[in-house]
Amino acid sequence: MKHNNLIVKPNTKINLSKISTSDTNGFNSKKEAKAMLKDNIKKMVELQAKLYAQDKYAMLIIFQAMDAAGKDGTIKHVMSGLNPQGTQVYSFKQPSKTELDHGYLWRINKALPEKGRIGIFNRSHYEDVLVVRVHDLISDQITPLKFRNKNIWKQRFQQINNFEKYLYENGIIILKFFLHISKDEQKKRFLKRIDDPAKNWKFSEGDIKERAYWGNYQKAYQEAISETSKTYAPWFIIPADKKWFTRLVVSEIIVYEMEKLEPDYPKLTGEQLNKLRKAKELLLDDKK
Ligand code: ATP
Ligand code: MG
Repeated sequence: MKHNNLIVKPNTKINLSKISTSDTNGFNSKKEAKAMLKDNIKKMVELQAKLYAQDKYAMLIIFQAMDAAGKDGTIKHVMSGLNPQGTQVYSFKQPSKTELDHGYLWRINKALPEKGRIGIFNRSHYEDVLVVRVHDLISDQITPLKFRNKNIWKQRFQQINNFEKYLYENGIIILKFFLHISKDEQKKRFLKRIDDPAKNWKFSEGDIKERAYWGNYQKAYQEAISETSKTYAPWFIIPADKKWFTRLVVSEIIVYEMEKLEPDYPKLTGEQLNKLRKAKELLLDDKK
């Protein structure tokens, strides 16, 4: 399935209100999508095993979205079946006192995947140019007044770009997914969470409060995505009103990007192969 159209080209200003939340790239069979997702998961399992054995690259997959856009479900469905040893999922919540005593990338740095692993961020350093911007929380983060100037967001985009470039140049492949949901679909999902006892726990009063800031968030997302989609760390805007499509297309992109790395099991040298042969002989001779 094509997904080129979902990537945000570097240095282009996007307008989220003009980007569909329900498009399915011409694909309409939910049943077929499920089968394709299953197939992609199989491929990912194999690719992950090689990535791990190769111990060369790490992958960092970032999910950002408005509430109820399906971050948790996408992570659960797309990453199911992967070897837990090679995968790390981090959910970034409101920063703790200790975290606030450091620069905003401190906790991010600590959570980065090691070589050979896939790291998944459920929210990320982008919260520091989203929620922090929308709710004007910068004074919790930066104490000296002189550094809290009106260029702060531009500066942060720069810092993020520099940081992600540095990660890329150190072998961390970064993919960033914005799950793009409509306000209407969010309402439907919230109502479901309220009506379905099994989903009650997912609903919090704060969700409604945040919904009131919808426009501010869209604006903040729009600018953040436009300023930080780079060849070394691209953003993908994923229509998220249909869960089956979100999951399928995210899995397609991950498989595609992993295949590009051509991960493979390390090739043994002649000497290593000889050692293996000797070890086998020893084992076969061992009659005990
Ligand atoms: P769920 O789907 O379970 O609701 P969630 O990711 O929304 O998952 P919550 O515990 O509801 O998890 O929310 C985490 C909250 O932490 C979000 O409102 C998010 O905006 C906030 N948060 C994350 N990073 C920061 C940050 N750097 N500064 C301030 N708030 C942050
Ligand atoms: Mg929440």
